[in-house]
Amino acid sequence: AEEFLLQSEKLTIVGELAAGVAHEIRNPLTTIKGFLHLYKSENPAIKYGDLIQDELERIEIITNELLSMAKPQAVAYCLVNVKDVIEQTLEFLLPQALLRNIEFVRKFKGDYFPVTCAQNQLKQVFLNIIKNAIEAMPCGGEIHIGLELTADGECLIAIQDHGVGIPEEHLHRLGQPFYSLKDKGTGLGLMISHKIIKQYHGSIAYQSKVDEGTRIEIRLPVHG
Ligand code: ADP
Ligand code: MG
Repeated sequence: AEEFLLQSEKLTIVGELAAGVAHEIRNPLTTIKGFLHLYKSENPAIKYGDLIQDELERIEIITNELLSMAKPQAVAYCLVNVKDVIEQTLEFLLPQALLRNIEFVRKFKGDYFPVTCAQNQLKQVFLNIIKNAIEAMPCGGEIHIGLELTADGECLIAIQDHGVGIPEEHLHRLGQPFYSLKDKGTGLGLMISHKIIKQYHGSIAYQSKVDEGTRIEIRLPVHG
């Protein structure tokens, strides 16, 4: 238990430090982007202009993600129906899914799944995880989204894809900062998601087989 505490304290300190550094990087970055834009419009033939811009945008994405894991400043917790949050997330991701021939299949056992949380944070978690599922299926297919109340008073959200899968020896690295196997990945999505779910005293578990797919189970304590 002591080790666990130390580990979580370390994460908080590292998180705050990362967010601080990200904040400091953002201002000069904005200036550089602005001047690059100006320079490009005055010198349309500038060599490597697009490349520089792409890389600057990459830094911007990373710093924004780092900032979003800063200590939550007075987030308002409300009673939320998880089903609504899932529906909002699926609606948001539908265009991306359609483009990639992916279908969302809902397996909801019920209509009301009350959880106390900050709605936007929970949406962020579902977004990160379902986006990963989409990205894992380059040839399209179905993503199953299960929702049920368990006998021990938990809300169980299961997201199952039929994608590339994750090698077993990599499973323990999910949620570690900057762990990514993608060309343009940041490896921060799952880290942020783990942090949020932990705040709610919930859990995330992964089951995966290479070339078969991945199942992610999120458990959250039900309100009341
Ligand atoms: P990113 O998506 O930016 O790479 P994440 O933290 O969201 O960062 O995910 C970290 C890594 O975990 C991904 O790069 C990928 O290798 C692996 N991963 C996560 N979800 C899945 C999934 N559903 N199927 C296969 N691999 C996954
Ligand atoms: Mg991701």
